[in-house]
Amino acid sequence: MEASKILRQLPSVNEMLNSSDAKRWIKNSTQPVVKKIIDDVLDETRQQVLEGKLDDINDDYLSKQVEKKLADRRVRRLQPVINATGVILHTNLGRAKLPDSAVKAIESVANHATNLEYDITIGQRGDRYKYVGQLVSELTGAEDAIVVNNNAAAVMLVLSTLFNQKELIISRGQLVEIGGSFRIPDIITSTGGILKEVGTTNKTHIKDYENAINEETGGILRVHTSNYKLIGFSETPDSKELAQLCTKYHLPLVNDLGSGLMLNLDQYGFGHEPTIREEVESCDLVMFSGDKLLGGPQAGIIAGKKKYIDRIKHNQLLRALRVDKMTLSALIATLKIYRDPEHAIEKIPVLRELTMDKGVVLEKATKLQKLILDKTDFQATIAEGTSMVGGGSFPDVQLPTYLIDLKASASETKLNRLLEYAKYPIISRINHGQVFLDLRSIDESDFEKIIISLNDVAKKINK
Ligand SMILES: *Cc1c(COP(=O)(O)O)cnc(C)c1O
Repeated sequence: MEASKILRQLPSVNEMLNSSDAKRWIKNSTQPVVKKIIDDVLDETRQQVLEGKLDDINDDYLSKQVEKKLADRRVRRLQPVINATGVILHTNLGRAKLPDSAVKAIESVANHATNLEYDITIGQRGDRYKYVGQLVSELTGAEDAIVVNNNAAAVMLVLSTLFNQKELIISRGQLVEIGGSFRIPDIITSTGGILKEVGTTNKTHIKDYENAINEETGGILRVHTSNYKLIGFSETPDSKELAQLCTKYHLPLVNDLGSGLMLNLDQYGFGHEPTIREEVESCDLVMFSGDKLLGGPQAGIIAGKKKYIDRIKHNQLLRALRVDKMTLSALIATLKIYRDPEHAIEKIPVLRELTMDKGVVLEKATKLQKLILDKTDFQATIAEGTSMVGGGSFPDVQLPTYLIDLKASASETKLNRLLEYAKYPIISRINHGQVFLDLRSIDESDFEKIIISLNDVAKKINK
């Protein structure tokens, strides 16, 4: 059909708004939203017709387009999803699931006045960071600590406080990108520092650092290359060696640890990662995330020497990066769990999932498989596989796991999409043309929701 003729046949916004379909849409949404979506659909349709990409529009084409947009809008709202990817610290899925006590702590302060910045012991304005600072110090051996919005903020705050207009020495092997365009060299420059690269990608010697020191030097930055691993012919001085050099020249040593590990996980077969306590011992300041291996809320923690923390407390930027009472209460509750290291692993979901025995994962898989076979039309077989830690932590560790290989009469990409649009969205993993649910990152308390979602998906497949 001719473009002009198709265009003339298109309904007006008002005609569509008065249709019986629209009544239903408005009931599940709002009139202004539906009107906007109809507007957009008509605009896009006109455009496509003019470009010759659409030459026939049947009756329910426009309705389908509107319904698709309404569904997209509905799933886009912030909501819980089921992480079946096996990536435990999935940044896109919000990283750490909080321990129960952290959830309770948020609840207790959320709708209540708190002593966030009021010191009851003196009846006057208090320091938002005092209590958490003491708690972090108790657990890590630091003199003091402060908490900001995330670790990226922690790094920026430290660099802008200590190294503005000064040379900051860093190994070429540590000039990394953390993801989401957080690049260490750019952060150094944007916070006013002067980047002084030393060594090579794979090898940096202590002599390289020493040779770079001059009267412009502000200090040394170490970055834990947590999201990638150099293997083979590589070498870089550890914090202890750098600390000796920094002491000799009276320079601060700061360390971007990334995923701060509070407990030693060596016994669970992870390669040795330095713990926060070990790094605090050598470095003047260490920075780490609250929602990576620590297993708490999104936050950035700076721990170390009191004289530097005091300077940070006077940086104007801190006000812009500060955390609210809910983050702080959740972080404090998470940290308190570490006072009892024996039980920390079971109480902190991140650590529990990381260290979960393969046999326990198999038990979960068997249980879910039975539920799926009994209560849905899906085929489900159990397969062995590997899970990832994620969040730029332990990049070379592959955790043995069990997966459910899910089959239905739909292609794997269609099935994967339908699972994501289900009542309780399931984010699955596609591998070699198959859809898998990885039981290591799925909590048993979600099994019922998975069954509801699968039945929801089955209806859509059969439609
Ligand atoms: C993850 C990471 C960051 C960024 O931390 P966020 O909490 O995501 O802001 C910075 N540095 C390193 C080394 C990291 O691993």
